[in-house]
Amino acid sequence: MRTAQCPLCQEQLEAENDDELFAKGRAHADAKHADQNISDEQIRAVPVQDK
Ligand SMILES: [Zn+2]
Repeated sequence: MRTAQCPLCQEQLEAENDDELFAKGRAHADAKHADQNISDEQIRAVPVQDK
């Protein structure tokens, strides 16, 4: 399991692999932080942890 914490709202995101985690991060940024114009690069820069 791969996890990452949103640096803006501290919501914890979990996924089976990095690709899925990126997709969840992208969806989270678009849904919750659409006004921040978060780029793919910013999402990839968020630290990912193994669990
Ligand atoms: Zn967030």
